[in-house]
Parts: sequence; C-alpha cells; structure tokens
Amino acid sequence: MRNSNGIVIKSFKTISLLFTLLLLIPTLSLAAQYKVIRVVDGDTIVVDYKGKYEKVRLLCVNTPESVHPDKKQNIPMGKVASGYTKERLKGKYVDLEFEGPFRGRYGRLLAYIFVDRINFNLELVEQGLSPYYTKYGLSKKYDKEFREAERYGRDHKLNIWGDPDLTQKYLRLKSKWGQYRSTVNSPTATIKTKEWKYVASKNSKVFHRPDCKWAKKISPKNLIGFKTREEAAKSGRRPCRSCEP
Ligand SMILES: [Zn+2]
Repeated sequence: MRNSNGIVIKSFKTISLLFTLLLLIPTLSLAAQYKVIRVVDGDTIVVDYKGKYEKVRLLCVNTPESVHPDKKQNIPMGKVASGYTKERLKGKYVDLEFEGPFRGRYGRLLAYIFVDRINFNLELVEQGLSPYYTKYGLSKKYDKEFREAERYGRDHKLNIWGDPDLTQKYLRLKSKWGQYRSTVNSPTATIKTKEWKYVASKNSKVFHRPDCKWAKKISPKNLIGFKTREEAAKSGRRPCRSCEP
C-alpha cells in the first residue's frame, strides 16, 4: 500500500513539473522581444522595434542629465545613472509596455522597459537614480509601486537621495509636479462626481462641469459637488469660463 502510494505521488510530482515547464515555454518565447541597440542616457535608449531603430523614453522617470546639449545641465549623477542603465540594458533584449500616448515629444516611444521581467523604470527609482517623475501625470499602472520604490531609495539615501543638494532640488521639483495630489480618476472620486452635475474646489470661487480639464486638476480632498446649477451659484461661485457650466 505504502509503496503504491509513493509511486502515485512521485508520478504526480513529475507530471506537475512537466506542466510547469510547458506553461513556461510560451512565456519564455514571449519575453524580451526588442534588442537594445544603444543607451543614450539614464532614461533614454534605442531599441530595434519591429525592424526599426526607435528611441524610447522611459515613462515616469527622469534621471539627471549626462548628454544634454546645454552642458551646464550635465552633472556627475547623470553619468552614474547613464552608467547604470548601460550596465543593465546594453545589448540585452527587453520588453516594452505602453501606457497612454505611444509617442511623446520628439517622436520618441514612451514605455516601461522590462529586462529579465523586471520593471526597469521602477528599478531606477528604487536605486535613487530618478525621482518618481510625475510632471506629465501619475503612472496609471504602477503608481503605488513607484511611490514605494521612491520611498525605498529615499530611506536608504541612495544616489540622488544621498546628496543633500540634489535632494533639495528634486523635492522642490516634486512639489511643483504635484505627485501628492492624487488623481481624480480614482474609483471613489469617479463615483462621487457621477452624482454631481457641477464640481468645485473648496478653495476656489469657480464651479465646473465634472469633465472640465480644470475640474480634473482639483485634489480629491478639496473637491466638492453640487446637484444643481442653482446650488453651485448659491455657494457664491461663478461658472468657469472654459467649460461654461
Ligand atoms: Zn471648468
């Protein structure tokens, strides 16, 4: 009895191992499709994208400059970041993950880079080689991960965060970008605004339609709403000139 049980378990293990291997085959062949041709700097690379050499700007990161035409902008930390990206990506095969517009300014592809299935954009932030760059908006897919990665880099005083001057510089920039203003597109905010015909900021004398570009910039903690236009007007606010509610 014991023997036959043993055999059953053993062959079950073999079968499940085979299954695991079979499951891995398509994943392995899908992984890493695009060859890195050149690393331009910490946050920009050139890949062979479907037979064409394309410049790729990494999303949600902005490493210090190393090859900027305005030489004053190039700083030693830029070289460190560029060296790191070269080390990690040069000659490798990577995957690209897109979010939002396919191309940005200067026609570069905008993407998250995966190397050995690791999100390299996040890795740069985790290493303190870039802040979580939110000038053009928060990451839709990895906002939480970027915040955690940045927290890690700062807590461990890695690279940028180990340099008091750079730390000051990036903290100033970050408050300008408004990373801590969370997005109105969060599920709770969307539900709330659905019930409202008009919205406003607690701190402003203007009211908007919920889909107004200015309404979308209001931080959820300041966002208030009105069911009728009359209610909005009664609050002492005037209609926005852009969305004309
Ligand atoms: Zn408006």
